[in-house]
Amino acid sequence: VSFASLGLAEPLLRAISESGYTQPTPIQAQAIPLVLAGGDLLAAAQTGTGKTAGFTLPLLHRLSTTSAAVKPGRPRCLILTPTRELAAQVEESVQTYGKHLPLTSMVMFGGVNINPQIAALKKRVDILVATPGRLLDHAGQKTIDLSGVEILVLDEADRMLDMGFIRDIRKVLALLPKQRQNLLFSATFSDEIRSLANGLLNNPGCVEV
Ligand code: AMP
Repeated sequence: VSFASLGLAEPLLRAISESGYTQPTPIQAQAIPLVLAGGDLLAAAQTGTGKTAGFTLPLLHRLSTTSAAVKPGRPRCLILTPTRELAAQVEESVQTYGKHLPLTSMVMFGGVNINPQIAALKKRVDILVATPGRLLDHAGQKTIDLSGVEILVLDEADRMLDMGFIRDIRKVLALLPKQRQNLLFSATFSDEIRSLANGLLNNPGCVEV
C-alpha cells in the first residue's frame, strides 16, 4: 500500500514525502483507514513501529477536512502522554506532518513555569499534547476549555497507568464531551488497561503489530 491509497489529503502526502517516508509501516497501514473512517481504535504497538504517525496523520486529516468554531484555548484534539519527553516528541511530529495545514498545536507538561502555557492558551490551539497532571492544573484554573475535544488519543496508556495516572486520566475524561473519537495506544495489555479501554472505547477497531 501507499500513503496516497490510504486516503490522506495532499498537504499530508507532501509532508510525508518531505520526511522521506516511502511507504506506511504495518501499524500505519492498519490504523490510518480506521481513524479516517471516524471509529475508535485500540492499538497494540511498541515505540519504533511508526505509531506516532499512525495516529497523527489521520487526526490531522480529519481536523483539516471538518470545521469547528475557533476559540482560544479550546482544542479540538487532545493527546495525553505519560512523560514530558514523549509529549514534546509527539508535538514535534504534529508540527512536522501538519506543516502544510492551517492547524495549530501546543505542548504542555509539568515541572516548568505555568505562565507561558497560560499565555499560549490565549491563542488558537487545535491540537494539544499534554501530560495529565499539568492539564488538570489548567482545567482547575479554567485556563483551558476541553468542551470542544473531538478526538482523544491516549499514547503509551500502559506507561500512564504504571506511573499512577489513572485517577488523573479519569478526571480528564469527565471534562470531555461524550461525543468524540477515542484512540488508545499501548505496548502491553494488563487487566487495568483492558478495563480502561472497555469504558472508553465504543466498538473499536483493533490493530496489533
Ligand atoms: P514511532 O514508533 O512513532 O516512535 O516512530 C519511530 C520512527 O519511525 C520515527 O523516527 C519516525 O520518524 C519513523 N517513521 C514513522 N513512519 C515511517 C515510515 N512510514 N517510513 C519510515 N520511517 C517512519
